[in-house]
Amino acid sequence: MPRPLPVLPATAAFTCRRNGLTLSRDEIRALAGLDYVETAVRVMTPFVAEVLSQDELRTLCKAAYGRFSHDAVTPLVQLDHRHWLLELFHGPTLAFKDVALQLLGQLFEKFLSGGDTDITIVGATSGDTGSAAIEAVAGREHIQIFMLHPEGRVSDVQRRQMTTVLAPNVHNIAIDGSFDDAQAMVKRLFGDAEARGQVTLSAVNSINWARLMAQVVYYYYAAVRLGGPDRPIAFSVPTGNFGDIFAGYVASRMGLPIARLVVATNVNDILHRALSSGDYSAGTVTPTATPSMDIQVSSNFERLLFDLSGRDGAAITAMMGEFDRNRAMTIPADMLGGARTLFSSTSIDGDSMSLALRWAQERGGQLIDPHSAVGLAAARRLELDADIPVVTLATAHPAKFREAVERATGVRPALPARLGNLFDREERYTKLSGDYDAVKAFILAEAARG
Ligand SMILES: *Cc1c(COP(=O)(O)O)cnc(C)c1O
Repeated sequence: MPRPLPVLPATAAFTCRRNGLTLSRDEIRALAGLDYVETAVRVMTPFVAEVLSQDELRTLCKAAYGRFSHDAVTPLVQLDHRHWLLELFHGPTLAFKDVALQLLGQLFEKFLSGGDTDITIVGATSGDTGSAAIEAVAGREHIQIFMLHPEGRVSDVQRRQMTTVLAPNVHNIAIDGSFDDAQAMVKRLFGDAEARGQVTLSAVNSINWARLMAQVVYYYYAAVRLGGPDRPIAFSVPTGNFGDIFAGYVASRMGLPIARLVVATNVNDILHRALSSGDYSAGTVTPTATPSMDIQVSSNFERLLFDLSGRDGAAITAMMGEFDRNRAMTIPADMLGGARTLFSSTSIDGDSMSLALRWAQERGGQLIDPHSAVGLAAARRLELDADIPVVTLATAHPAKFREAVERATGVRPALPARLGNLFDREERYTKLSGDYDAVKAFILAEAARG
């Protein structure tokens, strides 16, 4: 049997202080000047020390981050006196999900190699997760990946980044339906005893703890470059599933002085309503120019609520049960008060997003993507002490969302060289109806052929 993956249970994140998972001020100061890989090793070592030596972790980080096209991996770019962008999109698929999934691919390989367990990764994607996960595991032994996307509802760049990966262990499925339909099928498969009896299912969605752990790193990397830990830094994070910003919360709980975490949503604003008024109620999803944030219910938000409740599992189970029944609940005032000591939130509509995109271009000299522009608009709207630097997480390369960038700025971003002849490459994918049994039968048959 292979050793288990070093994926801590959902609750592990918050035992940081008790279990010595914090970094002291001196340890944070000592990160100054370290490169990204070395920063990653120092920040993640406490989480994986039981299963990986520091040298093993370093080897995996070097392999993962060696595939980024920028030597700094996640470079900081200055926009004006106080605003900065943390560019998280220099990985193989041009979105921040590569930062975590490239490492996850290395971890899978490390823990599966030499064993006789084969895993079957099944996921649904609205665009960016799919290509990042496929890039991370394509061609690896012991892994089959099945990625469902809603047919016709991801951008051409996003689809081709998935479907032109022709490695035999990669299976793309275009579903006749919405992202929610695809996601519902994946959830059903994970609960399907017959399927579980035939394959070892594995998920790569954003509640995967190893993904969160890898995302904590860049908060440290950016903060020490701007004077941390001796100067608090604010971060503005374009948010969908609350994964990226939750990593910021973990960084803060580990001891990094963070002045503010700004939850920037688009008009799908359940998180903003929840944090500003306690109204946690799901409506219908409105499609926007920032599709990766067109989400109503964010899986990772429950983790924050759990921590804010004083880690009261029973209370959270009751609250989430109520939410599942009514699609609505009210967050208690004491928990809201706790959240507001660190989090601010705002909802950015399409016009404000476009304005921020143009501001970055005209004033900061940077062409940014619409998701990053939502973050930047929120950062600029926020009233913070003038001496606190504000870092907006730039989550995707502008070329990934060329139409929206062109609409706002008149400039059509060029595809980066690393995408090469994306539009000339052969595509391979299977179209299936929205019928669960057909999808299940396809996955089980293909996985068995392995
Ligand atoms: C996934 C994604 C987001 C949202 O990240 P969460 O961790 O789900 O909050 C924002 N921007 C881009 C480009 C993404 O791909």
